[in-house]
Amino acid sequence: MLPVVIVGGGLAGLNCARVLHKNNVPFLLFEAGHECGGRVTTEFVDNYRLDVGFQVLHTAYPEAKHALHFPSLHLQKFYPGAQIFKNGKWNLLADPWRKPLSAPATLAARIGTLKDRMLLAHLSSDVSRGSIESLFARQDISTRRRLEEFGFSSDFIESFFKPFYRGVFLDPDLNTSRRMFDFMFRMFGAGEVAIPAKGMMMIPLQLRLALPRHALIFDTPVVQVHPDQVRLADGRVVGARAVVVAVDGPSASSLLGLPAMKTRSTTTLHFATNKPPLSRAIIALDGEGTGPVNHLAVPSLASPEYAPKACHLIACNCIEPAAQVPDEALLGQVLAQMTRWFGKEVQTWHLLRIHRVRHALPSQPPGWLEPADRPALLPSQVFVAGDYRATASIDGALRSGRLAAEAVMLSGFRRNLPQARPQS
Ligand SMILES: Cc1cc2nc3c(=O)[nH]c(=O)nc-3n(C[C@H](O)[C@H](O)[C@H](O)COP(=O)(O)OP(=O)(O)OC[C@H]3O[C@@H](n4cnc5c(N)ncnc54)[C@H](O)[C@@H]3O)c2cc1C
Repeated sequence: MLPVVIVGGGLAGLNCARVLHKNNVPFLLFEAGHECGGRVTTEFVDNYRLDVGFQVLHTAYPEAKHALHFPSLHLQKFYPGAQIFKNGKWNLLADPWRKPLSAPATLAARIGTLKDRMLLAHLSSDVSRGSIESLFARQDISTRRRLEEFGFSSDFIESFFKPFYRGVFLDPDLNTSRRMFDFMFRMFGAGEVAIPAKGMMMIPLQLRLALPRHALIFDTPVVQVHPDQVRLADGRVVGARAVVVAVDGPSASSLLGLPAMKTRSTTTLHFATNKPPLSRAIIALDGEGTGPVNHLAVPSLASPEYAPKACHLIACNCIEPAAQVPDEALLGQVLAQMTRWFGKEVQTWHLLRIHRVRHALPSQPPGWLEPADRPALLPSQVFVAGDYRATASIDGALRSGRLAAEAVMLSGFRRNLPQARPQS
């Protein structure tokens, strides 16, 4: 029996493979790189684990709960809140329900007003009501307008929401769809923010290890796609029962002739230090909007395995326009800003790597997410998956992969694929 061919071994392709494999549908997955994981990857440098671009897993992600086995990832949690640097001082905004002892500090923070704190609770209950589909069915506007219409003060939007959601969407101006914002706000409220103890790469690795090795073919870009075959870069043609293109948005545009997609970039500077600049695993934000660092974390405070013994790893994350600044100049700007934040100790930080991720996330303006899932089968009879088809996140990528596998199987039933009922 011809296999289903999956193009791309990111989370979308891997989850598509997982669902097909579980349903005894033979598949072959072609990945251009030499490892699975796509944008979720971890690099080892001097015994530090550097996630290529700081990212986190939300334990409330509905699809991830289903596709992944959380206990084996040994998830290490971040503090529920953020600390914000503004007017030369640090301010703590913590979730008062999960960290009641932090309430006095949160109330005293010089960010926004008392009304803003109360609105946060209303917003949380607003986005938690009903199904996720019902959230997406609401009228779509920009995140900024959503927050303004909800009544938040401009100080709170600028000093808290803007840097916080810049870190999530990599969007400098809160122009991202309110559907994406509502989804993420719901995730923050419903669960924990975590990283696997041994790095984000453990997520794709877990999926990969559950798949038959012979079906995963690395270092093999696909250059042409048809409904019943693909052409590899070395000229070989591989026949397929169905083809699922599970690549990133820009690659999908060129492989499938889809319209060009705007993407968001990010730059992460990882430093090694003996003394962590924060006292807990919390996200630190630029509440002044000066940049270039928008958000900073010390992953080794969440998981000591990110750094050698007695050492710590700092991830300084910049969004656009840092991508245009050459390494040396960017490093100088980052160190100057970090010295304002943490003082002279910054001079002891040792730069490990600068990672620039050009197509980190698709841009997701209003209208980007549709109330219902987009069909995984294109009019060209090729199946598609990838985060650009859903919420641009780990969860969206996993979801799109499952939906593509289910669509293949449903169409395959008409073409005598195994008659198992799709089970994800
Ligand atoms: C810096 C950064 C921070 C992020 N932060 C978060 C976060 O905190 N939380 C969160 O939920 N999400 C976050 N994300 C988003 C999340 O990582 C992505 O949405 C998700 O990993 C995308 O998975 P994917 O499978 O759709 O695409 P990809 O991971 O891009 O996988 C596509 C794969 O296709 C392969 N490919 C491309 N072209 C071809 C070809 N022609 N032939 C064969 N293979 C090909 C690529 O090599 C790649 O492996 C972040 C992303 C980045 C980059």
